[in-house]
Amino acid sequence: MPKETFKIKTLTDNNRMSTQELLQFITEKINEGYINFDIDACGQHNIGGSSWAKDRESKLFFTLRNPGQRVGAMALKGTKIVVEGSAPADVGWLNSGATIVVKGDCGDTAAHCAAGGKIYAAGRVGTRSGALMKHDPKFDSPEFWVLKNTGSFGFEFMGGGIAVVCGWDCDSLPSVLGSRSCVGMVGGIIYVRGPIQDVADCVEIKSLDGQDIEFLENGMAKFLQEIDKSELLAELTNWQEWKKIIPVSQDEKSKRMPVSEFRKNHWIKGGIFGDFIHDDFVVYKLPASGEGRVHIPVWNKENCVNCKICLNNCPENAISEEEKIYTSDSEKCIGCGICEAVCPKQCWSMTSNRKEIS
Ligand code: SF4
Ligand code: SF4
Repeated sequence: MPKETFKIKTLTDNNRMSTQELLQFITEKINEGYINFDIDACGQHNIGGSSWAKDRESKLFFTLRNPGQRVGAMALKGTKIVVEGSAPADVGWLNSGATIVVKGDCGDTAAHCAAGGKIYAAGRVGTRSGALMKHDPKFDSPEFWVLKNTGSFGFEFMGGGIAVVCGWDCDSLPSVLGSRSCVGMVGGIIYVRGPIQDVADCVEIKSLDGQDIEFLENGMAKFLQEIDKSELLAELTNWQEWKKIIPVSQDEKSKRMPVSEFRKNHWIKGGIFGDFIHDDFVVYKLPASGEGRVHIPVWNKENCVNCKICLNNCPENAISEEEKIYTSDSEKCIGCGICEAVCPKQCWSMTSNRKEIS
């Protein structure tokens, strides 16, 4: 197996390698046994993510300059990618275990859908970064470390994983998370240092506990070392300056407005086009209820923990509970399947309501 680093220049005499040519070339070289690559890119996409060693065991190492979008997208455990400078959108999209270090800023949607591995950004990251991060408990939690700040709408629908936003060099910003962060966040943790505002009300902001500090202490030195900023360790480890953001608990949610009430009384008025259209604010019943439903929900009491998540999330207020028995009112139910989707114990299942045509 060649030990030396394989160098690739993707622009020669004004001839630029396409993304496809570059990725195929990398694969050929991996098949010859190379595992270390040094690439002068020219905006090619997906570098590092779609490559893996032939034996699926060897670690791959990429040093990149001037990459295009989706550096390390879907990259596997054992891969390490270091970008010498900044990188555009989708860094580490759906990262599946790689370590990705960007020694500058990241464009929009960094760490979007990341499911494993570690992403280290030495600068700012753009809008919608960290959105849809998730954690499969069979694997280690994905981590996303940012030295400075994120753009707006970060961490939307985050379902798991850990993000750390250090807020360094952000003194002039009103919020190191931009505007409207954490909308729809249902899992994971965001550690943040510096001012934050306009965070969605589905999350709560708390002080750190001992476990949080232990995690940050263990990870911070490594992060700063990877981005060549070890001198900031003392400045960034004053834990009094840090907070954590987590989703509100189910208990807290159950005290809030049920989805059915929100849908009927608030959704359209406050909705995304509410300011721009003239509307009579009537919610039309387009999906059929009763016998017209395509699917109907069936409840099985086995495993039910009486958490009321189904009841609180039914958009038609069709579910009721009496003595821990849950029923769906067929005249209200529209067969949307939300009860099946939200129940943590798989008590609801949707069955076909199609009639045999004789
Ligand atoms: S399918 Fe479930 S969530 Fe949807 S309307 Fe019927 S009972 Fe409610
Ligand atoms: S969501 Fe599932 S477990 Fe919770 S009350 Fe409803 S049926 Fe029971």
